[in-house]
Amino acid sequence: MIFLRSSKKKCHVGFNARVILRIPSFFNSGLGDSIFYICRMNSTVDKTDIRALNKAQLKEWFVAHNEKPFRAQQVYEWLWQKSLKNFDDMTNISLPLRNLLKSHFVINHIKVDDMQRSEDGTIKNAVKLHDGRIVESVLIPTDKRITACISSQVGCSLDCTFCATARLKRMRNLNPDEIYDQVVTIKQQADEFFNRPLTNIVFMGMGEPLLNYKNVLEAIGKITHDEGLGMSAKRITLSTVGVTKLIKKLADDEVKFNLAVSLHSAIDEKRSKLMPINETNTLDELADALRYWYSKTKRKVTYEYVVWEGINDKREDAEALAKFCQIIPSKVNLIEYNPIDDGPYQQASPAAIALYERILGAHDVVVNVRRSRGKDIDAACGQLANKS
Ligand code: SAH
Repeated sequence: MIFLRSSKKKCHVGFNARVILRIPSFFNSGLGDSIFYICRMNSTVDKTDIRALNKAQLKEWFVAHNEKPFRAQQVYEWLWQKSLKNFDDMTNISLPLRNLLKSHFVINHIKVDDMQRSEDGTIKNAVKLHDGRIVESVLIPTDKRITACISSQVGCSLDCTFCATARLKRMRNLNPDEIYDQVVTIKQQADEFFNRPLTNIVFMGMGEPLLNYKNVLEAIGKITHDEGLGMSAKRITLSTVGVTKLIKKLADDEVKFNLAVSLHSAIDEKRSKLMPINETNTLDELADALRYWYSKTKRKVTYEYVVWEGINDKREDAEALAKFCQIIPSKVNLIEYNPIDDGPYQQASPAAIALYERILGAHDVVVNVRRSRGKDIDAACGQLANKS
């Protein structure tokens, strides 16, 4: 199929077409600035990832190819519920139709490039995406749960000074299927290595999930849908640096999953040094967004908080946190610092942690002290940086 369009206008690319070539203007005698874009159907070179289509688009495609619309439902189930990687395994689809699908589409799946197991049972996957980029996802086993910690971006654009992923800078957002596949992989590993089901998902891997809002929500939609993995949204936690506008949007979108905010200091000046996002999304604005979140969802928030020696280990720091916790119902996870280099950050002393526990307790704030998992394989919070 060839479309002729004037310069700068985009070629109308349907879901089965791709712009593959731009012909130099000297071929365009008499056509002014016009440029040829060649869009190709049935291309074997540049096929569409079939999982980029939603069910309605898939139906449309089948109808356009003189097939019954219910085929879309069948293929959709193979793709999402059963996570098939090959059209040939779609046993209720006829051979000619499978071949037709193969000639138009590919199924892009992530591949586990490297898997490491920690002595505490934690598994870290270095996951290769279809363009060769790598992200990491982690399976964290405890007595009661198996949690998948998954990535939402390749690298990260936020410069949190204590985080290894920040050093990578942001390369791109993950697609919904790339997010979904990390969960599928860990679900299979939970079964294979622990003979237990995956119980929880946390968006605490690489990247800032709210800066990949649409794809993350689409992936969660599929993870929680009966036609996907059918997991409960209550078992999913999205962790954010605190992008205030987007916390409000989550509330407006009436999401059913949990929200965690990486706080690390409730004093603006200190927080801005740790997390530069705080310069434009200040604690007052964060408080405002969280009030909005609670007014709409009635769900409490979790604050992720590391206590560092000489940085935020004083009484005034703990008191500021206790005060911030009064804004809406909340709890605090005091997470252990996972060193990423010989930088200025050191885990605070047990006495400082005890001080936080006492002060938060005195203000009726629920606090959990979280031990790190998978440290020996650099799989702990903030250590994900493709070192494997
Ligand atoms: N961008 C999101 C999710 C990814 S980071 C967020 O910031 O919440 C997941 C968690 O790990 C965050 O709470 C983050 O502050 C924390 N973290 C980052 N680096 C860390 C480190 N070196 N040690 C301990 N926690 C770290």
